[in-house]
Amino acid sequence: MRAIIVEAPGQIKSTTVDEPTPGPREVLVAVSGAGICGTDLHIIDGDLEGTVYPIVPGHEFAGTVAAVGSQVTEFAEGDRVAVDPNVFCGECHYCKIGRGNLCERYNALGVINSPGAAAEFCVAPVANCFLLPENVSLADAPLIEPLSCAVHGFDLLPGRVGEHYLIYGAGTMGLMMAQLARFSGAASVSVVDLNADRLGVAADLAADRTATEANAFDRPQGWEVVIDCTGAVPAIEDGLRRVRKGGTFQVFGVAPEAAAASFSPFQVYKDEIHIVGSMAVLHSFGRAVELMGRGVLDPAVMTSHRFGLDEYADAIDRFRVGVGRKLQITPGAPA
Ligand SMILES: [Zn+2]
Ligand SMILES: [Zn+2]
Repeated sequence: MRAIIVEAPGQIKSTTVDEPTPGPREVLVAVSGAGICGTDLHIIDGDLEGTVYPIVPGHEFAGTVAAVGSQVTEFAEGDRVAVDPNVFCGECHYCKIGRGNLCERYNALGVINSPGAAAEFCVAPVANCFLLPENVSLADAPLIEPLSCAVHGFDLLPGRVGEHYLIYGAGTMGLMMAQLARFSGAASVSVVDLNADRLGVAADLAADRTATEANAFDRPQGWEVVIDCTGAVPAIEDGLRRVRKGGTFQVFGVAPEAAAASFSPFQVYKDEIHIVGSMAVLHSFGRAVELMGRGVLDPAVMTSHRFGLDEYADAIDRFRVGVGRKLQITPGAPA
């Protein structure tokens, strides 16, 4: 089969490899589409902790079941599935306390130590496969994985209706968080992004107000929920200052590992600010499938570009310079 392999940091190769065979409790998925995200850049650049090279990238994907292992009864050839790429060991301290995304032996297809979906076929554990609702197309389904990360983020917020949200970043994740906030009963959703070109889409999809800096919103009392989807230190520092008393600040965007931000401990103490991180997916993939079926996202807007498998390196280059929103590679024809 055709596959993309990151041989080592900076080395992307389009090649032919043996088609994988599913183990007893595994499913062979004919990949229809795989989204590209910042994690893929980290893998290609060699600055993601834990990646074992060479690796086939691609962790946001969907496709059609092509074969099932000898002990799989849950799926059959032809089923349309989205795949949760996160594989937890089930044995470590964090797995045992129900916090699998903090697993000491964390693995993820296409990210750490298992082949991903930038290939015609990908093998996944049966537990990680989710049947698509009839009204969710294979072309849109790769959005479910990033949506499941956003759903996990929301799991860690207070979840009260009628509150005001401020979101930093109008990229794919910022847009998803804004749409979830709107869907979850926010009183208002404000989105800030330095790139004014991105704000129109945010306004079309979910934002009541958009600006290139939060001062423009004139909300001196602050916001109950502030979410950083940029990972940029200036945005994080700015956002922390704008949390309303008793409110929550979420670190959702991925900052560089060595980054340091400053904040006022006095403010956090005096105003009882909650600061919470959100990492990947935890028990949220199935709900993301449901929400896709419910139409919480506008998938036609969210996926802006599609590329053939052999155009992977080109797609990465375009993503790196900020082209569009979600970019997707399509090893198989979307149904
Ligand atoms: Zn991703
Ligand atoms: Zn574990």
